[in-house]
Amino acid sequence: MSHRPVVAISSCLLGQPVRYDGRLQHHPDICQHLQQHFNLLAICPETEIGLPVPRPPVQLTGNPSRPRMTGRDNPDIDITDSMRDYCQHKIHSLKHISGYVFKSRSPSCGLENIPVFEQNTVIDNNHAGLFADTVINTLANLPVTEETQLQTQAQRDNFISQVLDYYAQQVHSNHG
Ligand code: SF4
Repeated sequence: MSHRPVVAISSCLLGQPVRYDGRLQHHPDICQHLQQHFNLLAICPETEIGLPVPRPPVQLTGNPSRPRMTGRDNPDIDITDSMRDYCQHKIHSLKHISGYVFKSRSPSCGLENIPVFEQNTVIDNNHAGLFADTVINTLANLPVTEETQLQTQAQRDNFISQVLDYYAQQVHSNHG
């Protein structure tokens, strides 16, 4: 294991130009704070399945218990199978991480309150993005958060403390 905890983070929060609209979503204050304690691992599910920048935006649609990922403006775009394949493979490379900072409000990375649409109507407003859903259901006790929950010093200190505790357990079980 790395001598410092590894924390995964949505690539766009690090300022990488990966968003669908090409705009930056950099949060340097959060990133610099976390980098004092952790090695950050950038992950962008949408570009890692080969989507370009810019690209048509996607959203969750259909059955809320197993939503599809389709184009927001063009429902003929359907990247569900690519994204689900990616989720199943990528998660196996993340057993070593000790935390994850997700980008809020993303159908791929958002942790909560992601809408699922049917015929342009919201039928469920409390889903997770498809990749975030895989992470939280596979790595059940992993400390996870979104950038919106790291706005204050107290919130950051709390997350850092959770990650350090989780990392200590990982080190202990690796040597146990
Ligand atoms: S929210 Fe996730 S999928 Fe979207 S640009 Fe950021 S890292 Fe990529």
